[in-house]
Amino acid sequence: MATLPLQDEFNVYESAAARFEAAARKLGLEEGLYRFLKYPAKEITVYIPVMLDSGHLEVFIGYRVHHSIVRGPGKGGIRFAPNVTLDEVRALASWMTWKCAVANIPFGGAKGGVICDPTKLSRGELERITRRYTAELIEWFGPERDVPAPDLGTNEQTMAWIMDTYSMHVRHTTTAVVTGKPIDLGGSQGRQEATGRGVMISCDRALARFRMQRLSTRVIIQGFGNVGSMAAKLLHHAGYKIVGVADIHGALYNENGFDVPELIDWVYGQHKVLSEFPAGGAKMTANEILFQPAEIVIPAAVENQITSENAHRLQTRILCEGANGPCTAMADEIVDRKGIFVIPDILANAGGVTVSYFEWVQDRQGFFWSEKEVNERLKDVIEHSFEEVVRYSETHGVNNRVAAYMLAIDRVAFALKERGIYA
Ligand code: GLU
Repeated sequence: MATLPLQDEFNVYESAAARFEAAARKLGLEEGLYRFLKYPAKEITVYIPVMLDSGHLEVFIGYRVHHSIVRGPGKGGIRFAPNVTLDEVRALASWMTWKCAVANIPFGGAKGGVICDPTKLSRGELERITRRYTAELIEWFGPERDVPAPDLGTNEQTMAWIMDTYSMHVRHTTTAVVTGKPIDLGGSQGRQEATGRGVMISCDRALARFRMQRLSTRVIIQGFGNVGSMAAKLLHHAGYKIVGVADIHGALYNENGFDVPELIDWVYGQHKVLSEFPAGGAKMTANEILFQPAEIVIPAAVENQITSENAHRLQTRILCEGANGPCTAMADEIVDRKGIFVIPDILANAGGVTVSYFEWVQDRQGFFWSEKEVNERLKDVIEHSFEEVVRYSETHGVNNRVAAYMLAIDRVAFALKERGIYA
């Protein structure tokens, strides 16, 4: 097995591999299984020709990686962002494998990405990129093969285009090929809020553990996209005090707490800049907000926010990872030494893929559940997974992150052994 330290702290694939390695070693995973689970099962790069509105022909680069399909079809989002790399998609695909295993839902792990800046493309251009990307991957996708979902820079409209393109190719409407769709096209109640709701359920479990009260719990949330804004809304509604908020352009810290519905209206209703919110607070950068005092810090934006350089500045008791990979692997030890209770990404943000699973089940049955039913089942899954991870950490004397990885790797390795290696 390769050894730490990492060559490049900011390469998320290396971070993912280092964590896998530490957990696999602790688990005593046999060498062959280690090799099999360390690398992606399949990966593809597609070059997507797209006619821009200007009449100029551009070629975009897209990826799809299947990390594992041992426990079920590949599952994972598609990211549209200017800085997407194959290594990043590989890391995110492996995190999906572990996340689905932690939540014990019958999926493997996959991820996709297209290098593009969705903020600079028209709706028509985005639709053409999405449709051509889907057409190139027709043989990869399918309800039994690989089921995409939204991620950074994509949304339910993107999923509707993928569903339509796939359906046109296979000549029948196949709603279960993607999740995170609009409700009237086979989407699930509660899917949009699901990741934020899972974050809240995890925070509730942590509070119960430490006998803390919501009303006296200060929360900082970095990121105001789908995950961050939904988490802020639900936590605020539940009685938590949201004292720090941030979007990509900047952050605000206010000891008195924010009126989150007003803030959501400011950003989403009036399309104004978050850091110019009138009932504001102290302005700072989006990264700086993570290091202000609070009981809970929720990084819910992008990777590599907490690093070996800045982790010592955290002033929180609980770190709940709404984003994928917000801490580098090299920051883990520092966070650990500070005694911070970490709810690792593959547990904390598993609410999204859990309701994706419910959506897939509903599509395949053609029978749809109420929002109440979805939320109750989600609560069961996250609470159960949380307790399993914490129990595992106590039994094996490891931190929550290592415990979550060990639990997940054990489940996938077990399924792999039961299936056997086809040769
Ligand atoms: N993109 C989300 C994640 O990283 C959701 C994936 C899904 O629902 O398949 O967990």
